[in-house]
Amino acid sequence: MNNRRLIYLDNNATTPCDPRVVETMVPYFFEKHGNAASRSHQFGWEAEDAVDYAREQIAKLIGAEDKEIIFTSGATEGNNLAIKGVFEMYAKKGNHIITAETEHKAVLDTCKHLEKVGAEVTYLKVQEDGMVNLAELEAAIRPTTILVSLMWANNETGVIQDMKTIGQICEKHGVLFHSDATQAVGKIPTMVREMGVHLMSFTAHKMYGPKGVGALYVSRKNPRVKVTAQIDGGGHERGMRSGTLNVPGIVGFGKAAEIARLEMEQDAARLSKLRDHLQAELTKLEETKVNGNEGSRMPHVANISFKHVEGEGLMMTFNQNIAVSSGSACTSASLEPSYVLVGMGLGDDLAHSSIRFSLGRFTTEEDVEDAIKLVANGVNHMRDLSPIWEMYKEGVDLTKIEWAAH
Ligand SMILES: *Cc1c(COP(=O)(O)O)cnc(C)c1O
Repeated sequence: MNNRRLIYLDNNATTPCDPRVVETMVPYFFEKHGNAASRSHQFGWEAEDAVDYAREQIAKLIGAEDKEIIFTSGATEGNNLAIKGVFEMYAKKGNHIITAETEHKAVLDTCKHLEKVGAEVTYLKVQEDGMVNLAELEAAIRPTTILVSLMWANNETGVIQDMKTIGQICEKHGVLFHSDATQAVGKIPTMVREMGVHLMSFTAHKMYGPKGVGALYVSRKNPRVKVTAQIDGGGHERGMRSGTLNVPGIVGFGKAAEIARLEMEQDAARLSKLRDHLQAELTKLEETKVNGNEGSRMPHVANISFKHVEGEGLMMTFNQNIAVSSGSACTSASLEPSYVLVGMGLGDDLAHSSIRFSLGRFTTEEDVEDAIKLVANGVNHMRDLSPIWEMYKEGVDLTKIEWAAH
C-alpha cells in the first residue's frame, strides 16, 4: 500500500471535476469569453448558444423543459430561492411550510429565517431508517400549507425518500412540492414530472462539475409555478434570478449533466458493488451499525457506526490516507453530533462514532481495498486503547454506568 496516497471517499461533500467537463469549459475563459446577455456581437451570441446547450442538457437529465431551468450559484441559493420565493409569491394562499428535521442546513436555516417574518413551519421527525412517515406528512397539511420541502436523498446517509408518494400527497392537497435533490441528480434518475416535483434545487459540484454553479427547476405547466426573485437586477433568468451568467461554469454544468445522463447507470452499478463490498467487510468488525434504510439508499454511500469508538479519533488514525467525513457537524466549532443521525434516534455516542463513506466516479477497487484495511486497523487500534471497549468486552452493561459529570 502506498502510504502517501490520499484516498478520497468524501464525494458527498464535493466531487472532483470530470476532466471532460474542464476541457469543455476552457474556451469560455478565453476566446469565447462573451456575456450571454450581449445581443449585439458574436461573443455574446456564442456565449448564449453555449448556455442554451447546457440548459438543454440539464433539462434533459431531469425530464424538464429548457425554460424551467433557472441558473443559480449552487444548491444553497436554489433552496433559498425556492422556499423564500414561494413564501413571498404565495403569501395570499397561506404561510405554512412542511419540511423535515434531517434536511440540509440550507433548507432548515431558510425556514428558520422565514419563521421570523411570519411563516409557520412544521419540521417532521423521521423514522429510525431516515424515512419520512408519509401518514404524518399528510396529517401535517393544513388549509394554509403552501409548500412541502423534502430532500430527494440525504447527504449524510444517502437515504432516498419516497418521492412519488410524497408528490401524490402534495398533488392531492394542492400543495407545491420542492425537493433539494443535490445528492441525487446525476446519480440516480430524478425525473421531476414522474415524481410530481414542482421545484428542485441541485448543484454542479456534487456531480463532477465545477463549484459555484447550480440550478433551480421551476415547473412552468401543471402547475405554472412562480417564485419571487431574491436577487434583483437585470432581469436574467426570466426575472427570477438576476446577474451575469457564469458562462464557463454553466458550460461545465451542462457537460456534467450530459455525461451523467449517459453514464449514470453504469456508474451506479459499479459503485454499488464497491460500496456493498466496503460495507460487508467493515461490518464484519464487532459492534457496527449501518445507518439509514438500506433498501432505499444511494448506491455510493455507506454511513457506519463503530460502537464505543469516537469517530473524530478514529479518523485521526487514517486521515493521512483516507478522506471521509464523521458523524459530527463540521459547521460548528464544538463537535456536536450530527443532527441527522440524532434525528434518526441514534444516541450522541453512536452518532459520534459514525463515519460517512461516499464513493464516486473516480473511486477504484484498490481505493476500497486499502480503505477497508486502514479503517479496520483504526477501529481495532482505538478499541485496544479504550477502557470502554475493555468494559464492554468484560460484559459490563455500559448503559448502567454513572459517569462523572463532564
Ligand atoms: C452540498 C449540498 C447543498 C449545498 O450545495 P451548494 O451548491 O454547495 O450550495 C445543499 N443540499 C444538499 C443536500 C447538499 O448535499
